[in-house]
Amino acid sequence: MGAVRDYFGNIASALTTTAKGMSVTLHHFRNEPPITVQYPFERMNIPDRYRGLHILEQDKCIDCHLCAKACPVDCIEIEAIHHGRTLEWKKFTIDYKKCIFCEFCIPPCPVDCIHMTTEYELATDNVDDMTEDLLSWTGLRPEDQFAIEASEAKKAGKAAPTKAATAAPEGGGDDDDKAAKIAAIKARMAKKS
Ligand code: SF4
Ligand code: SF4
Repeated sequence: MGAVRDYFGNIASALTTTAKGMSVTLHHFRNEPPITVQYPFERMNIPDRYRGLHILEQDKCIDCHLCAKACPVDCIEIEAIHHGRTLEWKKFTIDYKKCIFCEFCIPPCPVDCIHMTTEYELATDNVDDMTEDLLSWTGLRPEDQFAIEASEAKKAGKAAPTKAATAAPEGGGDDDDKAAKIAAIKARMAKKS
């Protein structure tokens, strides 16, 4: 008789605990807002301190390589020709196949021109796309080219060149996009300070 009572007691206990569990589930289902984010159509708010893709304020960079030297995985490559203090840019790449988003490259910069953003999208079907060039332009800007030509002409005792003779720098196709990103980063940093 005791065994029969235990049997039905266990069934009652199982039904009661299941009902209690389901009541908690239903409570959350009815009262809590949905937490699923329909990425990529929706995005979560990323904290300001998130360590995402880098951005470079190229006009401030002095090609000192301190960021590259601080990188523990050697994923920053920088190449520029120095014309006095003017830089002719070749590349400033980060290999995101290696980058561990440690932020070690940011504090050593003496002019505070490399930053980590809240951008995080790296998905690609081509592994070569994971090396990002942070330069907004390559070569020399027209004003830099003009300054160099003027200085060389002065040294050679020749007439100074006209501004119209200088060429536009290469690779500036997405300048607007990068300028907008830099402006957004600057605004965020100004808000924090
Ligand atoms: S975040 Fe770290 S791993 Fe990535 S480039 Fe900077 S120092 Fe290197
Ligand atoms: S540490 Fe700063 S200034 Fe020096 S190369 Fe890197 S980004 Fe440029």
